[in-house]
Amino acid sequence: MTQYDYLVVGAGLFGATFAYEAAQRGKRVKVIEKRDHLAGNIYTKEEFGIQVHQYGAHIFHTSNKEVWNYVQKFAEFNRYTNSPVANYNGKMYNLPFNMNTFSEMWGVRTPQEAIDKINEQRQEMAGKEPQNLEEQAISLIGRDIYEKLIKGYTEKQWGRKATELPAFIIRRLPVRLTYDNNYFNDDYQGIPKGGYTQIVEKMLASDLIDVETGVDFFDQKDQYLQEFPKVVFTGMIDQFFNYELGELEYRSLKFETETLDEGNHQGNAVVNYTDAETPYTRIIEHKHFEFGKGDEIKTVITREYPADWQRGDEPYYPVNNDKNNQLYQQYQNYAAEQAKNVIFGGRLGQYKYYNMDQVIAAALETVQQEFN
Ligand code: FAD
Ligand code: UDP
Repeated sequence: MTQYDYLVVGAGLFGATFAYEAAQRGKRVKVIEKRDHLAGNIYTKEEFGIQVHQYGAHIFHTSNKEVWNYVQKFAEFNRYTNSPVANYNGKMYNLPFNMNTFSEMWGVRTPQEAIDKINEQRQEMAGKEPQNLEEQAISLIGRDIYEKLIKGYTEKQWGRKATELPAFIIRRLPVRLTYDNNYFNDDYQGIPKGGYTQIVEKMLASDLIDVETGVDFFDQKDQYLQEFPKVVFTGMIDQFFNYELGELEYRSLKFETETLDEGNHQGNAVVNYTDAETPYTRIIEHKHFEFGKGDEIKTVITREYPADWQRGDEPYYPVNNDKNNQLYQQYQNYAAEQAKNVIFGGRLGQYKYYNMDQVIAAALETVQQEFN
């Protein structure tokens, strides 16, 4: 055991990036992963020639040129641009909110007509500072769009009334006065040809790295902490400390994947269901991430159902409201005293709603701190 310099817990993007960089510096690394496969939530698996995103749609997008160049080492990216469509009670609207959406919603044709309509719709919030997500959405884009494209989806996604959610969640979404359906404003975007799993496989391919899947850190926590000089932990920070300071909140998801005997089910990779009654938030049709590649008479779709999180469920999203952020801060302080040889990293270890590019950037920053 003593021949290892690091134990990395979790073979997701954070753990893999750290392990790769450590091995590049001649360090010996052991990686353990409790699932039976590598790559964490970016895991993709080929079925019928289609790369199936096992844990929900993953689109790589970034304005960080260093990170974009970095991932090119591990995969070739296609020119996929995310352009989800919303289905509200059978009527289709383009996303994010742009001239196509405004035209579909109100029949307006020019940016000025759209501005006039939005201003009229925002009147009810005039002079008021938005206090929650509902008020923020109405003051941003007006009531029609809020009711049809935001309210139902958001309340399903977060399991809470929009009036009880923080305003910042909705500020992630662009509002555009052009006919541009690109969901992201970033400079670079794409999907790795042949899926994401290869990225992590290549990162972990070094002779200096040993990987074991199907192994849970908590089965032998004390032994690991004794035997390894340093541990990089990418699981839940509150679980690491046996929830001693209290439980952080997470949102979970249930995925329902189905193979259909048809070549093209919905004509787009992502269709959001924005009404309150449909129990899922979106349907992904995986082959459209690679422009219809794969079996011509079969397609794989996944329905995504948001779910409350309880111990034992997969903690997909940290809930970064004030209460949880404060508790996380306490865990961080606690970690600095109680777990000096443990680095906490990634979406769960740092309790941050990181996208893939941010996880790579965070891992590279940790590498800088560790080795410089
Ligand atoms: P993870 O991928 O969660 O890896 C952590 C690993 O640690 C897991 O494999 C877990 O099994 C393992 N682990 C945990 N505890 C233990 C333990 N006790 N013992 C052993 N192993 C353990 N990002 C984007 O950039 N674009 C997107 O379009 C996008 N879409 C997303 C959609 C969904 C539904 C979700 C959930 C996330 C999405 N993300 C997206 C975010 C992206 O998935 C994350 O940024 C990234 O996967 C985080 O990597 P990570 O290594 O921090 O965590
Ligand atoms: N959202 C919405 N309608 C949509 C898509 C998103 O109201 O059709 C809201 C919802 O509150 C969501 C937020 O916008 O939580 C951010 O959306 P994004 O697609 O960035 O969510 P994520 O990538 O985190 O799933």
